[in-house]
Amino acid sequence: MNSKSSASLLRLSWSGFRLYASRSPPWGFQSVSGTPAASSRLPHVSSCERHLSSNVKVRSYLQYVKRKIISPPSPPYGHVCQVGDPVLRSQAAAVDPAAVTAPEVQKVIGTLVKVMRRLECVGLSAPQIGVPLRILALEYPERMLEDVSPSSREARGLSVQPLRVFVNPQLRVLDGRTLRFQEACESISGFSATVPRYLSVEVSGLNEKGEPVSWQASGWSARILQHEMDHLDGVLYIDRMDSKTFININWQKHNE
Ligand SMILES: [Zn+2]
Repeated sequence: MNSKSSASLLRLSWSGFRLYASRSPPWGFQSVSGTPAASSRLPHVSSCERHLSSNVKVRSYLQYVKRKIISPPSPPYGHVCQVGDPVLRSQAAAVDPAAVTAPEVQKVIGTLVKVMRRLECVGLSAPQIGVPLRILALEYPERMLEDVSPSSREARGLSVQPLRVFVNPQLRVLDGRTLRFQEACESISGFSATVPRYLSVEVSGLNEKGEPVSWQASGWSARILQHEMDHLDGVLYIDRMDSKTFININWQKHNE
């Protein structure tokens, strides 16, 4: 989740599935099933077919030249995978508790935190950087809170939160009442919608050192947690949103 732009938006930030189709996951955990990308077989229905088609050709050629020079990146990525990538719709696999401190998992955690901070997100999950493992990270730094008005802080239940990493997290609802707020996701870049979330939840799992931890969260933190937990099950906020509130966050610019 991300809060760098508008206080009214919750940008949740959090794939490499295609790599697993051709080779085993490098971290040695159980593989995860996913949906094969079928878009290339779908008939074009857009009136912009020619335009899109030529853009794709140019981009494909540039990609081809680039790949001749630089080998393609592999997960964990330093970028966030976008909706359409099968890894975002797969059920992430549990991490072997004994392997949390192993270099492979530590690399995933390190990259997750690095990408989250670079994008100024307040939450990110491993599938979003191409790794279908049950790992998520959350953090709400003070400098982000400084950009939010006191009234918005109170309405959203915002508070400074230290970095927390959860491996194999389990969520328990503490307060079943729901609250609706605008949410966004780094994996659905440029859009936002209102999503209902439980008021208060408890998460338990392992931290980055493999130690058992639990945390009771309410307000915005509870929302971030629920959003990130959904990513581990291949669920996106667009599956839970009030569809009539779905917006392109730059819609006004298109009229200028
Ligand atoms: Zn997200």
